Amino acid sequence: MPRVVVLTGAGISAESGVPTFRDADGLWEGHRVEDVATPEAFAADPETVHQFYDARRAALGTVVPNAAHTALAELEQVLGDDLMLVTQNIDDLHERAGSKRVVHMHGELLSALCVGCEGRRPWDGPMLGALCGSCGHAELRPDVVWFGEVPYRMDDIIDALVESDLFVSVGTSGAVYPAAGFVQQARAYGARTLELNLVPSEGIWFFHEARHGRAGELVAAWVAELVHS
Ligand SMILES: [Zn+2]
Repeated sequence: MPRVVVLTGAGISAESGVPTFRDADGLWEGHRVEDVATPEAFAADPETVHQFYDARRAALGTVVPNAAHTALAELEQVLGDDLMLVTQNIDDLHERAGSKRVVHMHGELLSALCVGCEGRRPWDGPMLGALCGSCGHAELRPDVVWFGEVPYRMDDIIDALVESDLFVSVGTSGAVYPAAGFVQQARAYGARTLELNLVPSEGIWFFHEARHGRAGELVAAWVAELVHS
């Protein structure tokens, strides 16, 4: 079986009803991105930032994984360690579909990061006002990567891209770096590259092949092809 890296983005979550990162009006759930998704915003107004992520965390209970998440969990069962599933999404829909080894390059809503000791812990509720249970005194912040911060596990991701035979991008706009550059890195090292997206992405020219439509249908069909080929 081939070594595969799959990158998922907002499009796969949107089909489950998760609001996309930026709506047509350029706002994110009514907020400007710079007011809720930067370290500067958190330093200036932690209450607003916490309320924003607390609401998004609570909203996870209103959405469920779709057929694309389920197909990728099935692919993990077939490929095991030969699959790296990297997501830009901070929801837990891949895990709820059954994926065990998801690389959350932009962090997770269901995790808290201590600003003092940098310890992490699972978190399932409001975070505003909570203090770290390990060092005991420092405040907690959402364990998500904000604009201006370095995405998680980049070394592991690059290693997997270099070694991959196939790179598949699902539901990503191709506009947000470094993830938008993964296709070029994988291709430079010899991987075939496939885009599965609702519409042609900004990076479509870098892919060997592109299929456009709903992720639930496209991903399920592609996984079936790969598994039965
Ligand atoms: Zn701490």
